[in-house]
Amino acid sequence: MKIQFSDIAAPRPTRQTLTDSYAALNAQLDAGDRRGAIAAWDRLRREHETWTALVHLRFDQDTADETAKADRDFADALAPEATEMEVALKRRLLADPDRADLEAIIGAHALRLWDFDIAAFDPAIKADLEEESRLGADYTALLASARIEIGGETVNLSGLGPYAESPDRSVRHEAEQKRWAFFEANGPELDRIYDSLVRLRHGMARKLGYATYTPLGYRRLRRVDYGPDDVRRYREEVLRRVVPLVDRLLQARRAENGWDRLRFWDEAFVDPAGNPAPAGDHDYLVEQAKTMFDRCHPSLGAFYRSMVDGGFMDLRNRPSKAGGGFCTSFPTQGMPFIFANFNGTHHDIGVFTHEMGHAFQNWQSRDLHCVDYLWPTMESAEIHSMSLEFLTYPMMGLMVGDAAAERFRRMHLIGALAFLPYGVCVDHFQHEVYENPEASPAERHAMWRRLEKLYMPWTDYGDLGYPEKGGRWQAKHHIYASPFYYIDYTLAQCCAMQFWVRARRDPAGAMADYVALCARGGQAPFQDLVQSAGLVSPFADGVLASVVREAEAYLAL
Ligand SMILES: [Zn+2]
Repeated sequence: MKIQFSDIAAPRPTRQTLTDSYAALNAQLDAGDRRGAIAAWDRLRREHETWTALVHLRFDQDTADETAKADRDFADALAPEATEMEVALKRRLLADPDRADLEAIIGAHALRLWDFDIAAFDPAIKADLEEESRLGADYTALLASARIEIGGETVNLSGLGPYAESPDRSVRHEAEQKRWAFFEANGPELDRIYDSLVRLRHGMARKLGYATYTPLGYRRLRRVDYGPDDVRRYREEVLRRVVPLVDRLLQARRAENGWDRLRFWDEAFVDPAGNPAPAGDHDYLVEQAKTMFDRCHPSLGAFYRSMVDGGFMDLRNRPSKAGGGFCTSFPTQGMPFIFANFNGTHHDIGVFTHEMGHAFQNWQSRDLHCVDYLWPTMESAEIHSMSLEFLTYPMMGLMVGDAAAERFRRMHLIGALAFLPYGVCVDHFQHEVYENPEASPAERHAMWRRLEKLYMPWTDYGDLGYPEKGGRWQAKHHIYASPFYYIDYTLAQCCAMQFWVRARRDPAGAMADYVALCARGGQAPFQDLVQSAGLVSPFADGVLASVVREAEAYLAL
């Protein structure tokens, strides 16, 4: 039976229906039916997640739709209530002295995750959590409101993408001037939102007994097998091994193009012949991707066709659509959904290769017995998405044309390397922010600028006043809405590049390990999943050295 997106539905819960459901679960536990209660609870959580995902998706599809906004506000207000009931049940189950029996039913990893969930929540922070979502929505709506006149049209921030990568240097410059003029004009509001978020999060941490937000942030992300010290060592690895390589790449580009200086607006212009773009429009790419995924792996091909046939993708850019791209899921039916904003550049291809990796993993894991295993923690989830970007390299001719395929691969690899210093900078910044919750907005801008000079010493903003003063971080959604979730991309990139190195020698073996990793979903913590796919943990000494060596050879540096 083919699932259609229009069939996806879940009953709208209220505080009362949730209270009744949890009362029934507790009664079942009182009666000694632990197995039955856990199964019923799993169904309830899948239903609730499906409804929440649908409500958020509708809002992101049209942030100007009042009904969608009201529904999202309702869901955001209900979320802390639902969390409270869920955590109370986890607490009750974990308090049972017979943990071995619980482990036999649900698995040891889920119990570890629940231990973290309990440590990250208390009813005392319910109102704070609601306020946190509200502030996150304010940020999304503010960025979605951007209307920028360029090239004779009006675009939003996503629509600015093609101009920012134009082969015409003056157009790239104009795009960045207009982008940062928007951020400068909204600077006070962006500062207000972030300042409120930092104070709110620090306050939550204090209420839960933590000295700062950092340990709470790590627990909220369910990082059961690594901590801030591991992450700090990884940042140092990137600084030592990758920053010099990216610096050399940018110097080579400057010389190749005959520029006296490489400006900020030149950083996105990777290929001197012009960044390879998709060989066709939306409909063309959707069609070509069928062949691409068929050639990758039969199960990937079949799954992609069911996404297309069922209408589980919304890829076109529209006014008032939220920016960015993501994959969400409806665990009652098992089908995921891909949301994106096509802009005619190579980023559109990333939607197929990156978001499809998430979607495929989620689909492969849909029948795992515990809802906690449907997605792994974020850094593991990004392995599925970022690795597929590399594993589709041999098929890239289908998306950009055979003549541009090698140039595309080169551009993508350079982009992947250049991303690492930026990614660890975003992470380092957040560690400093939450260690210094009393810092003023101006001090935060100075903090960012100092770290940017450490990790990206090449950055030359020229006449772009706002980022020159330290404002670039305000364009990064994750810094506002998903604290500490950014290093995840850099950890996953380290794993994805290992898949790339392996696929160059053994494409079928690498693909088979990838598919098996996807099916494992979130049944284990990060480093166990990494090891199970034959990869080396990013926290192991020297892991980046071999990847960097391979990249240097490939790029003929
Ligand atoms: Zn992703």
